[in-house]
Amino acid sequence: MKILMNAGPWLPVPPAGYGGIENIVATLVPELRARGVEVVLATVGGSTIEVDEVLHVFDEGQFAHLQKPYNQVMGLAHAHQAGVVAELRRRDDIDLVHDHLEVVGPAVLSALGTHRALHTLHWDLHKHPDLYGNWPRGIAVNGVSRSQLARAPQSLQRASLGAIYLATPLAGTVPPMERNDHLIVMGRVCGLKGQHIAARLCQKLGLGLVLAGPVSGLNDAAELEQVLGDPEHPLHGHPDVRYHAEEVARYLDGDLVRWVGGVAGEERDRLYGSARAALFPIQWDEPGGTAVVEAMALGVPPIGLRRGCLPELIDHGRTGFLADTEEELAELVLRADEIDPEECRREARARFSPGVMAEHYLELYERLIGQARPRRSGQE
Ligand code: UDP
Repeated sequence: MKILMNAGPWLPVPPAGYGGIENIVATLVPELRARGVEVVLATVGGSTIEVDEVLHVFDEGQFAHLQKPYNQVMGLAHAHQAGVVAELRRRDDIDLVHDHLEVVGPAVLSALGTHRALHTLHWDLHKHPDLYGNWPRGIAVNGVSRSQLARAPQSLQRASLGAIYLATPLAGTVPPMERNDHLIVMGRVCGLKGQHIAARLCQKLGLGLVLAGPVSGLNDAAELEQVLGDPEHPLHGHPDVRYHAEEVARYLDGDLVRWVGGVAGEERDRLYGSARAALFPIQWDEPGGTAVVEAMALGVPPIGLRRGCLPELIDHGRTGFLADTEEELAELVLRADEIDPEECRREARARFSPGVMAEHYLELYERLIGQARPRRSGQE
């Protein structure tokens, strides 16, 4: 079986730090290859993951450009996808395209109409109701949680093959760590992830909090300062930059509440794995929650607001806590030690391990390839 895995033009695989989709592709690909699947990866230069073949249009990730106005960046995804299409036209050995490129991926593959394709929805499906309400014919699709798909327009729900949860290798690769006193929010700094709520809460309770994650792609305070000081900079008025400046910065005292910027590799694992609890004061219906399953895999209890996929991932009282209000969140944070880290790790291994995710995808691939493959004479 040969799959063209389309990771898109935004970040290398694996990403150096932040990168939800690229992390998932990096988790899935080795598992598929271990099960005999050949993988052709469409990505950007700088990807270091081992695959059977790699193709890219761009020499480096284009994520930083995503923040520019649409008319300046609309060519990026299209140029990447044109490269994918050229490759598909050139060869006839690809059994299935597994696509992770938002909107442009399924639209172009459907128009091409020559290859079986599975598109994984990593996003909030309120976006793009125009496309999701008129799902392109012939493109199989799966989501990353049941709650995400439940909010999808009818046309997409009909086409959907169900939800496959996101996975992480951390339960098997990072040994249990001594716990520090700090709490952590791991994720892009933006209103949707609700860092200001965690900061307000921790300041009130006198608890240490680490906010880890880039602000609109900016990875540290110096980069952010530069953008804030330059009204001409394309990111100057960006909503996430404004959110950090207007809602979060007031709580950053450099002691109790700290923003450490984007973190990667061992530093990320150490900061994350030694936290007392991971907070998810989300202000949206989180579709997949990679960072939630990562916390669990590290034995760090996830504590969040009861929204989006969180109730599917967290078993309240056993593998984390779910709160309905900020006040309740504060009470539950103080009870973090009631959650058994080993139970979290066990759950992550059973439900969110790379092997479990890969088996689910492999089943889908087989179904799609088997279903669509024309029967030759003499076959049952
Ligand atoms: N992440 C990281 N470094 C950071 C912040 C985040 O490596 O400084 C990773 C995090 O561990 C997770 C991913 O980026 O794997 C974010 O995925 P999530 O689904 O939580 O957020 P989203 O895709 O909505 O941005």
